[in-house]
Amino acid sequence: MVTFYRRLPKFDVVTPRTLDEALGLLKGNHDGEIRLFAGGTDLIPRLKERIVKTPRCLLDLKRIPDLDYVREDGDGGFRIGALASIASVASSPIVRERCSILAQAAGSIASNQIQNRGTVAGNICNAVPSADSAPALVCLDAVVLCASTRGTRKVSIHEFFTGPYKTVLGEDEIVREIQIPGAHAKANGVYIKLSPRSRMDLAVVGVAAMVSQEKGLLKDVRIGLGAVAPTPMRAKKAEAVLKGESSGDELLAKAAKAASEEASPIDDHRASAEYRRMMVEVLVKRALRQCLAS
Ligand SMILES: Cc1cc2nc3c(=O)[nH]c(=O)nc-3n(C[C@H](O)[C@H](O)[C@H](O)COP(=O)(O)OP(=O)(O)OC[C@H]3O[C@@H](n4cnc5c(N)ncnc54)[C@H](O)[C@@H]3O)c2cc1C
Repeated sequence: MVTFYRRLPKFDVVTPRTLDEALGLLKGNHDGEIRLFAGGTDLIPRLKERIVKTPRCLLDLKRIPDLDYVREDGDGGFRIGALASIASVASSPIVRERCSILAQAAGSIASNQIQNRGTVAGNICNAVPSADSAPALVCLDAVVLCASTRGTRKVSIHEFFTGPYKTVLGEDEIVREIQIPGAHAKANGVYIKLSPRSRMDLAVVGVAAMVSQEKGLLKDVRIGLGAVAPTPMRAKKAEAVLKGESSGDELLAKAAKAASEEASPIDDHRASAEYRRMMVEVLVKRALRQCLAS
């Protein structure tokens, strides 16, 4: 099959140099008149293919210097600025040491070129159900800091996604930062991505798992799923099967089955719903085993 990319439609581009300037430009934005872009790795192809409405103006965030960081906060957690590239998150010593699950997820995205250009904030703002960073972020109870001229609000990652390509963000809001609370930044974690090609492909199923144990019992277990529901999700029923129990093959199998039952995948050109459901079961079991072995 051949894909014919069209030319980009016509629009203006503005390049604010501060966050306040960007927020001022967005004030009163409605009906997609102004669209933000960071790396542009999602938005530009979608504009070319006329999948999104052509805006009057694109607002380029990349020139705002204070948003490109991965830094520790005071309580053992860390913060990812809106312009931190996927590559910088994947290679950050802070992320690798504290939350390898997120480094693995970022490292699984596309190619080096996309990782250098694209951002983790753009990955969640685009809100595709298969976004690779999302299952890890839901396991980590990430918090999204959203800014506008009306003020700044914190949104839990669990409330951030409202459907495929939909979030709670208003048209005048910018995701300024993603915060990872200290409480979860240390548990063993694994991200497994199933895709037909090893790179440059979206996940058919994405599974993130984190396990902590105390006195031989499973204390905190978190399972995040991508590409198997309208939004990235936590497999809460599967987690409940495991919590407080002593790990064993039968228990892991029961939890994996529960995860596959609470997923609500669709059939599409990448895979059938049935296949996705089966692979959730296989991959959740595999991810849990890997967590327990490390
Ligand atoms: C060849 C190719 C392969 C890919 N492979 C993968 C893959 O394996 N896994 C995967 O998950 N993704 C993949 N993607 C998708 C994409 O690269 C990622 O989603 C990337 O993280 C998007 O980041 P960006 O900065 O380029 O976003 P952009 O394209 O700049 O923006 C994406 C959306 O988010 C909005 N946005 C961006 N930043 C902000 C902000 N700070 N505040 C509010 N809104 C914002 C934009 O308005 C736009 O709607 C691929 C894309 C391509 C082209």
